Amino acid sequence: MEELNITPRTLMGPGPSDVSFRVLKALSTPLIGHLDPQFLKIMDHTQKMLRALFQTENKMTLAISGTGTSGMEACFVNLLEKGDKILIGVNGVFGSRMVEISERCEAEIYTVTSDWGKIIPVDEFINKIRELKPKVAALVHAETSTGVLQPLEEIGKVCQEMGTLLLIDCVTSLGGCPVKIDEWGVDAAYSGTQKCLSCPPGLSPVTFSDRAMEVIRNRTTKVQSWYLDLTMLDKYWGSERVYHHTAPISMNYALYEALRIIFEEGLEKRFARHKRNHELLVKGLQELGFRLSSQEGHRLPMLNAVIVPDGIDEAHLRKSLLTEYNLEIGAGLGPLKGKILRIGLMGESCTPNHVELILAALRNLI
Ligand SMILES: *Cc1c(COP(=O)(O)O)cnc(C)c1O
Repeated sequence: MEELNITPRTLMGPGPSDVSFRVLKALSTPLIGHLDPQFLKIMDHTQKMLRALFQTENKMTLAISGTGTSGMEACFVNLLEKGDKILIGVNGVFGSRMVEISERCEAEIYTVTSDWGKIIPVDEFINKIRELKPKVAALVHAETSTGVLQPLEEIGKVCQEMGTLLLIDCVTSLGGCPVKIDEWGVDAAYSGTQKCLSCPPGLSPVTFSDRAMEVIRNRTTKVQSWYLDLTMLDKYWGSERVYHHTAPISMNYALYEALRIIFEEGLEKRFARHKRNHELLVKGLQELGFRLSSQEGHRLPMLNAVIVPDGIDEAHLRKSLLTEYNLEIGAGLGPLKGKILRIGLMGESCTPNHVELILAALRNLI
């Protein structure tokens, strides 16, 4: 076998995003035991920083060992029991994944759908909550497959009123635009490390309100996943420190450092940077004759879905970007396969240099 020898790429797809040298350095920090007092201190500090990032006071805020989907699965398997009613907004890959996981929980599933690239209509979703009084209502805040940002503010209030738990996917939004768990009345949320947090994939930050935890503690059946059972994870991340699984030490070092970087910059500045570079990119794309496919007024700053112009072979274009520019962007998924390109501006990959690079490369290739 050859020695591992990777050509570095510039990561401008739907994740992973570029990782800073400080985070890479954190990954090579010597291992210690997962119950070492030094590591427990890192866990405590990580929880504090995650609460600030989610803008929540939720005690139950931690990083699940696994990628974004593990946090997603943790939310559904803990909140749902067989026969529970759930309402899900489906307008892309990740809403569809929510349905698939809920099916495996044997929940009674209702959906509000919308075209891929459009938001879930808020009024329709609210009316359904009032009509069905579901145990859980779930929405994807930033639909990475379509580039759409779902409005959530009004929905949380209605959920509180109806006794419904609001569950959101903020894998792509967290760290790139405001995610206000407490202010919006969100009861459960999950994210991932490799998008706007600019950390390698492998951990899934999650947060649960006291209301959600009470529902989980009062379940009549055991959570079907032993690994993702929050009541046990709580005993490991909480003061008891009961062994549950061996935390991925190096990944937790990386997340700790990535979070420190985020708070050195400051949330407001970080969100403004994402917005600014998104606007710069959109302007440049328009000058090149590209149009965005996502609904105007609801576009994600960190994930730009671009319509493939007629006469352009998008697979060939992406391949040229990779081989000639070492630049990765994403393809369309599902019904948008072959129709859109997805350009990410996430975390460390969200700089004017990145914007200029993709625009120059596209100008030369089309
Ligand atoms: C990436 C992503 C996920 C899944 O995360 P993985 O780390 O790939 O498991 C879930 N939801 C959204 C919106 C995502 O963008």
